[in-house]
Amino acid sequence: MVFVVDTEKRPLSPCQPARARRLLTEGKAAVWRQFPFTIILKRATPDATPQPLRVKIDPGSRTTGLALVNDATGHVAWAGEVTHRGQRIHDALLTRKASRRGRRQRKTRYRPSRFDNRRRREGWLTPSLESRISNVLTWVARLRRYAPVTAVSQELVRFDTQLLEKPEISGTEYQQGELAGYEVREYLLEKFARRCAYCGATGVPLQVEHIIPRARGGTNRVSNLTIACEPCNTAKGTQTAAEFRHPEVQAQARRSLKDAAAVNVSRWALFHRLKVTGLPVEVGTGGRTKWNRTRRGLPKAHWIDAACVGASTPERVSTGGIQPLTIIAMGRGTRQMCAPNKYGFPLRHRKRQKRFFGFQTGDIVRAVVTAGARMGTHVGRVAVRSRRFFNIYTSGGMVRDVHTRYCRQIHQCDGYAYSGHGFSLTGYSDAQQAND
Ligand SMILES: [Zn+2]
Repeated sequence: MVFVVDTEKRPLSPCQPARARRLLTEGKAAVWRQFPFTIILKRATPDATPQPLRVKIDPGSRTTGLALVNDATGHVAWAGEVTHRGQRIHDALLTRKASRRGRRQRKTRYRPSRFDNRRRREGWLTPSLESRISNVLTWVARLRRYAPVTAVSQELVRFDTQLLEKPEISGTEYQQGELAGYEVREYLLEKFARRCAYCGATGVPLQVEHIIPRARGGTNRVSNLTIACEPCNTAKGTQTAAEFRHPEVQAQARRSLKDAAAVNVSRWALFHRLKVTGLPVEVGTGGRTKWNRTRRGLPKAHWIDAACVGASTPERVSTGGIQPLTIIAMGRGTRQMCAPNKYGFPLRHRKRQKRFFGFQTGDIVRAVVTAGARMGTHVGRVAVRSRRFFNIYTSGGMVRDVHTRYCRQIHQCDGYAYSGHGFSLTGYSDAQQAND
């Protein structure tokens, strides 16, 4: 679906791509934004109340799934996957730390360490965690600008400890069916670090397994459950974990629930900040998400998980034809004024300005090169230089040294890169060709 805003830039209900293309070719609308693709109407529309949409978030440490769902119809109006830059921030800070340490230990004058009077404010998070939260909040704010968003759903915890307390989960319920079973499974996966408790295998299907087998009087309580790969489960048979020469599994399973239910600080921080937006925030568990998705027979993807977050998920979720927008957090450049080599020797210095010939690194440009070795149309993220030749990072790789006279900005640098544009770029060129 394509986002639509009216002449006053107020969000209307998203429309089908075909309709957007017609509006564009008939000149009734213009492209307002490329990512996410949004059109602006040229004439005022009679007061139409847009259908309310719900932003649904499945926060992850590497990738966060986002989906806009119409609760009444179950249609997914838009989906996106944000790739965070937490690891890159972490690496950059380590590099900075190493070069500062190197500077302190050089044989120069004695420099006493600074008096430690700094204190971290309440609720301080590491910069890498902070960036993940900011990415999500940025996208919630953007979606509110382009679509009629009235509510938020967020996956807050992996499993519901209340449901775990339910002592008897009978028979096969912990394998399929009941919601409580999914919570138990998520809990066990978390507790045993997503690997077979006996052989440590990862990346294989894991089964819920009784430490003292049912046949020997073992219960279905979570303290008697673990996860094992199929070969181990079969080999163990009717033995207890101790007889199977793994007494440590028994000990680990007895540990309290609180230990394993490690509170995910960044998810809670995100929840508190989402509440500040004033929208009603619904929270769900990871077990509930998986249960919702499996019951609706949907495949696994970050954006589909997002669409299945929370108890408000409609009975039928239609995801057909949706191509999620891939959003990659890139940051807005660096503050480093001097780039050293690996020995700390200064190699080059940064220019004092960020914009050259009207472009900035991170802008998305469309370059129609009409002559020379680079002839063709290149669309991608630009890296500017002080001379008139830029590099463009397209989906097909980097195109070197494209002259600025061929470049036209189609999207201003907003801290993100986009791939798998789906409709947006095709729509752009179609409409453009019709107009040209
Ligand atoms: Zn195993």
